[in-house]
Amino acid sequence: MDISSILQGGYQHPLSRSWQAKRNITKSMLMYPIFITDDPNAHVEIPSLPGQARWGVNKLEEFIGPLVKKGLKSVILFGVPLTCEKDGSGTPADDPNGPVILAIKKLRALYPELYIACDVCLCEYTSHGHCGVLNEDNTINIEPSVARIAQVALSYAQAGAHCVAPSDMMDGRIKAIKRALIDNGLGNKCTLMSYSAKFASALYGPFRDAAGSAPSFGNRKCYQLPPAAKGLARRAIQRDVVEGADIIMVKPALPYLDIIQDAAALAPDHPLACYQVSGEYAMVVAGARAGVYDLRTMAFETVESMVRAGA
Ligand SMILES: [Zn+2]
Repeated sequence: MDISSILQGGYQHPLSRSWQAKRNITKSMLMYPIFITDDPNAHVEIPSLPGQARWGVNKLEEFIGPLVKKGLKSVILFGVPLTCEKDGSGTPADDPNGPVILAIKKLRALYPELYIACDVCLCEYTSHGHCGVLNEDNTINIEPSVARIAQVALSYAQAGAHCVAPSDMMDGRIKAIKRALIDNGLGNKCTLMSYSAKFASALYGPFRDAAGSAPSFGNRKCYQLPPAAKGLARRAIQRDVVEGADIIMVKPALPYLDIIQDAAALAPDHPLACYQVSGEYAMVVAGARAGVYDLRTMAFETVESMVRAGA
């Protein structure tokens, strides 16, 4: 056999196999999504997200404490308001007594080292369930949408969030949020992580269950990207870099590894995040429960593929 044919000598040992990765997963790469609801004592299992629950602010210590001990370094908060009065502009999103702002303060006090990101969107708080403010004909009214989203992001930053992460996909919101942070003395105190390439995916179903954020009519295809739209994704990533994003994100992750790879090339000087979304998580768990594969092996394989692609 030719010398050039033999590769196996390079990965015959577990250690030399680990060297074949450009980068290995570390605990500090992972951010745990947390659903915070407005019943302070809630611990409600989410049937479509096995093993995950909606939590009340009083239960956060019981939930997060053991994870922090295991090495969890960061979380991303999602508000799940169940009792508030929703309206056209998502007024409850930045209610100072709402679940997200209370949870930021609680977590900062409990775990000073924990990095706290907040998802920023209006859909959990609007009466119509869309991610922006609507015109009379139910289309998105872009300028008030962006202004409102920037206001909510600013409120989370002022409450102590280390990072705000707009998931709404409204054009121009990165620039507006960055401006609002700078103008209020938080430009150097809060990271802006943009859901830059967020696709209109079938994989968000369990999240909508968890967050109660399904739109009451229509869908989100006018602002989330069409799944085949590689070019649009590339433009969105480049735009958000120019508008001041500190971190770029691709969402979902597994069906969009090529977009992750593109993002790594288009924004090589930015940290690149990807979101393994609720439906991906549910698939991984469901396959393991059906005996298709071992859960832990598959969990690592999926996340390693994202790191390999450039996350
Ligand atoms: Zn939304």
